[in-house]
Order: sequence, then structure tokens, then C-alpha cells
Amino acid sequence: MREGSSMDVQEKDRAEALKKYRRIKLALKIVGVVVAAAGLGLAVMGFADMFLSTADGGSPSLFWGLIAGLPLLGIGGMLCLAGFRREIVRYTKDETVPVLNEAGQELTPAVSAIAGAVKSAGEDLCPHCGEPNEKDAKFCRHCGSAFFVTCPHCGETVKDGKFCDKCGETLH
Ligand SMILES: [Zn+2]
Ligand SMILES: [Zn+2]
Repeated sequence: MREGSSMDVQEKDRAEALKKYRRIKLALKIVGVVVAAAGLGLAVMGFADMFLSTADGGSPSLFWGLIAGLPLLGIGGMLCLAGFRREIVRYTKDETVPVLNEAGQELTPAVSAIAGAVKSAGEDLCPHCGEPNEKDAKFCRHCGSAFFVTCPHCGETVKDGKFCDKCGETLH
């Protein structure tokens, strides 16, 4: 069997590391959940015993459960947090990255439209020959066609083009 390229080796190393990392994370999750559950059980037991024996007038015999249970619950919770943090981070990252990409994709046409508007500011393109003209020119200096026409629908004198910019009807 042929040796893989360095890229493949790197990929394999990364996959191995990821696998190991996932195993550690899985162990963290399992141990975390078990420790937290045990801590919770001990704490509840100790707590219940404290109440019950206080009601009975005796001294709590399982109070150690509360003392041992609470730190265990805390440790278990921290282990869980460490085990699940990657997922939490990945989740939030996956959630925000596409949103940012979408925003970028939506912004790109707007940005180029603005750039185009800035570029052609101060000059108007002739609707007939496409050549640039002074902004307030009445006739094209290249083909001589009128930039303003009387709209056949509303009678306004409007800039020549496909549609009337006063009433929206077609000009020609
Ligand atoms: Zn023209
Ligand atoms: Zn019109």
C-alpha cells in the first residue's frame, strides 16, 4: 500500500485527535452526568434526612450526604459543562455563521449597487445608446435623443426610459 501524501497524514492525524477528543468528551459527559446524579441523590437524601430527623427531634444521621452531595453535584455539573461545551460552542457558531454569511450575501448586491450608483453619480447613461451624459442634460451628446419625454399615460414630462417614473406605465 502506498504512503499517503502529507495532507492525508495531516487529515488522518486530525481525525485521530478528533476521535480521541470525542472519546474524552464522551467520558467527561458520562462521568459528569453520573457524578452529578450521585451528588444530587446524596444531597436530596441528606436534605430529606435532615428535615425528617429534625421533625422527629433526633439528629440527622445522613447529613454527610448533603455535605458530600453538593460538591459532587458541582463537580459533576462542571464536568458536564466541559463535556458539552464544544457542542454548545459549535451550536452557537453554526447558528451565527450562516446568518453572517446570509447577511453578507444579502449585502453584496446592495454594496455593489451603492458602488455603481456612486460611480455613475454626476452622469446619466443614455437609454438609447448607453453613453454617459451630464446629469441634467436634456439630450444625449452622443446620439442626440431626448432624455425627457411626455408620458402618454399621465402627461408628465419624465426622464426617458422603459417606464414612466411618475405613473409607472410603459413610455413606449
Ligand atoms: Zn445616446
Ligand atoms: Zn406617466
